[in-house]
Amino acid sequence: NLSDRLERSFKILKGQGKITEINVAETLKDVRRALLDADVNYKTAKEFTEKVKEKALGQDVLNAVKPEQMMVKIVHDELAILMGGTASDINIKGNPAVILMSGLQGSGKTTFSGKLANMLKSKRGKSPLLVAGDVYRPAAIEQLKVLGEQIGVPVYSEEDNKNPVKIAKNAIQYARQYGRDLVIIDTAGRLAIDQQMMDEIESIKNAINPQEILFVVDAMTGQDAVNTAKEFNDRLNFNGVVLTKLDGDTRGGAALSIRSVVDKPIKFVGTGEKLDAIDVFHPERMADRILGMGDVVTLVEKAQEQYDEEEARRLQKKIAKNQFDFNDFINQIQQIKKMGNLKDLASMIPGVGKQIKDLDFDDDAFKGIEAIIRSMTPEERTNPEILNGSRRARIAKGSGTDVQEVNRLIKQFDETRKMMRKMTSGGGKQMMRNMRR
Ligand code: GDP
Ligand code: MG
Repeated sequence: NLSDRLERSFKILKGQGKITEINVAETLKDVRRALLDADVNYKTAKEFTEKVKEKALGQDVLNAVKPEQMMVKIVHDELAILMGGTASDINIKGNPAVILMSGLQGSGKTTFSGKLANMLKSKRGKSPLLVAGDVYRPAAIEQLKVLGEQIGVPVYSEEDNKNPVKIAKNAIQYARQYGRDLVIIDTAGRLAIDQQMMDEIESIKNAINPQEILFVVDAMTGQDAVNTAKEFNDRLNFNGVVLTKLDGDTRGGAALSIRSVVDKPIKFVGTGEKLDAIDVFHPERMADRILGMGDVVTLVEKAQEQYDEEEARRLQKKIAKNQFDFNDFINQIQQIKKMGNLKDLASMIPGVGKQIKDLDFDDDAFKGIEAIIRSMTPEERTNPEILNGSRRARIAKGSGTDVQEVNRLIKQFDETRKMMRKMTSGGGKQMMRNMRR
């Protein structure tokens, strides 16, 4: 399965001293294959691995973590982004707001209807009404009634009515009359997709126009879940997915596949048979789960924080003592370059994007500067004060620039230094820290 495959691909990096083009390429070939086999579409998988590669190669070398651990962390973060980044809410506006459940039989619709009613009642002060829309099995109505009783939520049912569209309409009418502001409609499902079931749920949708249609799917069904999700989405254009039976050691690769195939957010997960076994879906946590390596992720995060803080503290001290030198300067340039293409960076500033679209941005903007600094001796870099005329002439020659350019850089450097001192002495400390992020 996906989790095992990913885990295996990280092993390529095991025992390697650092992340390099070559070993990253190998790892990512495996990661990409694993994603493709999990039904993540080709374009998404390709973009995914490209992003991971970029991040991996531009990574600071952290002594505290091993390359394969670093890689796990990067893949983890990208997985979370792929699954939507942040948790997404459901729409319960409207009086009553109507939520329609869809999915195959046994996926957990009835159980989840009860869980959701319970959650929205106790956490968001709603007055739900559960509606028994599965008219084919008398036991289904009974099941919902038992759930309703447990959580103190009324259940609307019509024992002799075999038309779920009418039942749904009547239920909404009933909710208006009795002041229930949330209607949750449980529906029937078949063991496999069939025309009649699809027609039925589609006509319920068209008749009542629900605020939310949730597609409920059993996480343990693996790749079948993807096909089912796609067919339901084609018919219903649902708003979100509920992944049930995510208890035990189900790793949840289906979350990734479904998300990438139907491009709808996963909104909730079911983690057990009990009525409180419901969670809002958190992409980060799901990424932990898929990789099964949460501890590694935390470790790398800590090491990164430490590294950042150490760097920032060291730099601040130097600036305060006016010891910021050309070595630091070139380090800063490296940092900026690592952040990516300059034009991309600049275009992220609101309002700037369009204006620079046609400009020919020079990605080598730092080249001259770097050449000049590299032509300085170590002593000159740490003590810029000693840069007299003859030294400047030598540097110009060595770097293939001219004395004016060298002078300009040194002048700029002096000004930067002064400005930095001002910043660290006032309330600028936090700003410096932010700049390093
Ligand atoms: P429906 O046919 O879609 O309405 O599915 P049900 O709600 O009747 O659930 C089918 C079975 O799955 C029942 O035995 C439930 O107790 C069980 N079930 C539902 N959700 C979960 C879950 O999150 N975890 C576990 N372990 N079982 C669940
Ligand atoms: Mg049911």
